[in-house]
Amino acid sequence: MFLIWDIGPDPVKVTVKPVKITLKSDKEEMGKVMIIGAGGVGTVVAHKCAMHPEVFTEIVLASRTQSKCDAISAKVADATGVRIATDRVDADSVPELCELFRRHRPELVINVALPYQDLTIMEACLECGVSYLDTANYEPKDEAHFEYSWQWAFRKRFEKAGLTAILGCGFDPGVSAIFVAYAAKHHFSEMRCLDIVDCNAGNHGKAFATNFNPEINIREITQKGKYWEDGKWVETENLAMHQPLTYPNIGVRESYLLYHEELESLVINFPTIRRARFWMTFGQEYLTHLRVIQDIGMARIDPVLYNGQEIIPIQFLKAVLPDPGSLGENYTGETSIGCRISGLDKEGKESTYYIYNNCSHQEAYKETGAQAVSYTTGVPAVVGAMMFMTGKWVMPGVHNVEEFDPDPFLASLAENGLPWHVIVDGDLEFND
Ligand code: NDP
Repeated sequence: MFLIWDIGPDPVKVTVKPVKITLKSDKEEMGKVMIIGAGGVGTVVAHKCAMHPEVFTEIVLASRTQSKCDAISAKVADATGVRIATDRVDADSVPELCELFRRHRPELVINVALPYQDLTIMEACLECGVSYLDTANYEPKDEAHFEYSWQWAFRKRFEKAGLTAILGCGFDPGVSAIFVAYAAKHHFSEMRCLDIVDCNAGNHGKAFATNFNPEINIREITQKGKYWEDGKWVETENLAMHQPLTYPNIGVRESYLLYHEELESLVINFPTIRRARFWMTFGQEYLTHLRVIQDIGMARIDPVLYNGQEIIPIQFLKAVLPDPGSLGENYTGETSIGCRISGLDKEGKESTYYIYNNCSHQEAYKETGAQAVSYTTGVPAVVGAMMFMTGKWVMPGVHNVEEFDPDPFLASLAENGLPWHVIVDGDLEFND
């Protein structure tokens, strides 16, 4: 059920009716799913898939280290009674992936390995006739640069093969873009300004740790900032733009402008958006550690020679930082991620719209053994997979999530642990 929380001066309450998913009774679209990646997000995806045996009739979890898959499978069996098969694969290798797919014959692959593997997995999907879903866009290992062009280049081939590829189906990217599609469908006649706001107000008790893969996370937040304005991208120095923002049930947090991948597809799919930005909160302690890591060269992604062996500093750093998957047990507090949008409503009146979810680290941990950042990524991936399996999001080609119908997805998201809320005509806190 949806709770509606109010913040800002005189917000208008909106009640959104959940739409119950009707599953296909002939089971034609339901069947076997394969999860690739056994990290924090993979743990959540495995648990949540197992909670829907009516949709995922068989589940296989494969990753580089099979013992991690076995450990997750044992926990899932304890929690749900469902048995998940496990396997091993190097997802950088298309032949290994094809061998895996031919052995298990899944209908859909949920890719929650690293963004480096997106293209090889897509290639193998085409070769073996498997549909595809991921939560992060492709990045080359040797350049901290992410854009959709590499994956969009597969469009014609997926379309011709009659296969669906769903890109960026985590929280952000993922739910953030689906929130925008929902606002466009139900509230706005013209969206003008979009600010995606991502706050983690949790405390894991460590001096420094990242909430998902440290290598991917540090590469993302040490880049230059970038946002869309009046038809072009505007670049800023790293974390140079910031302002305090008020998050529901949390309070005021300093929020920093970052480039985030969903902006790229959103400004194309919703061309009336004049300005699109992404903000994330960071504490001072975190920023100090990050600055030192950069200053001493530990964020470098080029190889350096150490004891006659080439190592990549950021990969070494990952090995000594806390494993994000281990943070859950003592994590307190919650996350709040949403979209603040302004423009003209369906009647042509100036209006604002804030749609968001709050997720408690402890609740996420109790249910899946993972903290809220893994949970808010894994649950949408599973809901997206359910949309595909039940025939609601089947569209041959390569698509970003906002291209699909947001209604059944958001109804199911709320039923699966991530309720969301809407505030109409509240204060968005952006005064320009
Ligand atoms: P982890 O590092 O915890 O897990 C990654 C998993 O992928 C590990 O099990 C790892 O294996 C496996 N893996 C890495 N390389 C390969 C390979 N070549 N072949 C097979 N398996 C491989 O990451 P997270 O779980 O934190 O994140 C997973 C994904 O989710 C990332 O792509 C991340 O960017 C994305 N994400 C998306 C978010 C969103 O909201 N959209 C938010 C947070 C994360 P091994 O254990 O052997 O290292």
